[in-house]
Amino acid sequence: MKRVLGESWAVPSLDSHNRDFFTKGVLTLQRCTQCKHVQHPPEDVCEACQGFELDGFASAGVGRIESVAVVTQSVHPLLADRVPYAIVLVSVEDAPGILVAGNVVGSDADAVRIGDRVRVVFEDATDPRSGEKLAIPQWEVIDA
Ligand SMILES: [Zn+2]
Repeated sequence: MKRVLGESWAVPSLDSHNRDFFTKGVLTLQRCTQCKHVQHPPEDVCEACQGFELDGFASAGVGRIESVAVVTQSVHPLLADRVPYAIVLVSVEDAPGILVAGNVVGSDADAVRIGDRVRVVFEDATDPRSGEKLAIPQWEVIDA
């Protein structure tokens, strides 16, 4: 899938914690191997038990929009022909308490509403530093 904010827009910087989230092509959330707590964004340590052994939880990638902001004024020349676009926080059905940010694709930004049901979709991109293929999670409304 083409990138919502354009092919020239910056891509996430990969590190050991966020690599799975931005490359798997599955909504992969960080999970503690000891207490099974799921957290996002990924960190060095489990926020529940302070454990250091963390792996990935493969979510089904379906959720509900809890917050929406529509950007109507471009904050950078590269985004001039991208506005308006919607930025949302999504609560993930199979990961209670987790909110994942992203853009909404396939809908008019002004039509996006709190309460809309969404599923994850992935933008294709390439990390310019490593050449690694990225699959950047975004959201598509499935039930407005
Ligand atoms: Zn834990």
